[in-house]
Amino acid sequence: MLKDGEKGAVLQRDKETYAIVPHLPLGMITPDQLRKIADVAEKFDAAALKITSAARIAIIGLREGDVDLAWQELGMDPGAAVGMCVRSIKACPGTSVCRLGQQDALELGRDLDEKYHGYKVPSKFKIGVSGCPNQCAESTIKDLGFIGRKNGWTVVVGGNAASKPRLAEKLASDLSTEQALHVADKIFAYYRENGKKGERLGKFIDRTGFDAFKYSVLS
Ligand code: SF4
Repeated sequence: MLKDGEKGAVLQRDKETYAIVPHLPLGMITPDQLRKIADVAEKFDAAALKITSAARIAIIGLREGDVDLAWQELGMDPGAAVGMCVRSIKACPGTSVCRLGQQDALELGRDLDEKYHGYKVPSKFKIGVSGCPNQCAESTIKDLGFIGRKNGWTVVVGGNAASKPRLAEKLASDLSTEQALHVADKIFAYYRENGKKGERLGKFIDRTGFDAFKYSVLS
């Protein structure tokens, strides 16, 4: 039996079969990748395909012996679906296509994904990037969120939608994309160094105090 997350496979409730979840940065997928996922699901007799909350497509119900073969055929990397790491970066279309967009959410999301997808941190960690205050990427319930406004990015921290939901608090505003990425770098460095194992960013902020946290990551 595979350990949870080994070979990018997640044991299912039946304790026999596995789901694999290819990484689709920001939920963007090409027609070829979509066909490939469908072909692999059929070839290995998957029980189901499921679009996940992280905007990925899970191939569910694979036999252990087929996991390696399925990945080989896919030619894609696993999404970070388990463990203490940056699990997902969710981004709305932003100014690329949305008529309400105020900032380029896909550009910032792509930069964050390239740098931080799967990055090891004290607890599970989610990022949301929304191109305007409508927050279609649910930035306020992410550990780290970005909200596009006319004058730049607002950064919010410490949100989650887990068993004890917490809304994120505003850390900074009117930032360029480069400045927003710099703030993200500082947050990750400080959290990695000082967070306790299993402590989500919101809990860490509650323990350290928001003002102290803000001072540490913005100074
Ligand atoms: S958050 Fe704003 S920019 Fe993004 S999809 Fe929603 S309405 Fe459009």
